[in-house]
Parts: sequence; C-alpha cells; structure tokens
Amino acid sequence: MSKDDVTKRFKPVWNLPLAVDRNIDQQGMEKLQELYNALGEVLDHPHRYPDPVTTVERLEYALQKTWKFEEDSKMHRYWNQIRGCTCPQDDNFLALGTGVRYHNSSCMWHGEK
Ligand SMILES: [Zn+2]
Repeated sequence: MSKDDVTKRFKPVWNLPLAVDRNIDQQGMEKLQELYNALGEVLDHPHRYPDPVTTVERLEYALQKTWKFEEDSKMHRYWNQIRGCTCPQDDNFLALGTGVRYHNSSCMWHGEK
C-alpha cells in the first residue's frame, strides 16, 4: 500500500479542514502522516509486532498529542481495528468517550489469555 492509500484509508479522521482548524503546521502534518502510516502497518500486520495492542495504544496517544488533543485513552478508536480482533465494533464506537470497552472474551488480542 502506498503512502497516499494509507492516508485515504483514514478519512475522515485525517482531513485537511480539521488540521487547519487545529492549527497543525507542516511539521505536524508530516508527523501525522508518519503516525497514520505506522498505525496502518500495525493494524494490518499485527503478527509482525511483539505487542501490537500496546503499539497501537502508543500510536493513539501520539496521534492525540500531534492533533493537539488531550491524551485520553477513552477517545482511542483503533484498538479494535487490529486484524483478527473480534471485539464488537458498533458497541465500542457508541461507547467512545465513556471509558467503557466491550471485549470479546475469545478475541485473540483482547480476550482472556
Ligand atoms: Zn479485540
């Protein structure tokens, strides 16, 4: 996947109006591009990483920081997009911001070990 494809994938989260609104400078935009590329890699190829769950978590914090948002795990939205994750998508999307996460106990990444 090329750089541009990864950026497209994350629309509408990655969008220019928001970047302008957040007063993100050129350097910040490049950093965001880098972070989204890294995020796409982990989400698509989790087995290449010793601990993809933690890696995604770190990237989510880095993204929030670069977007100049408060670093807040309640707003993390990519943890259940790791390939192979079977945690519920809709319930977790609706729970965004509440701090509640719904896990599938048989999920290979988030289930009971
Ligand atoms: Zn999961």
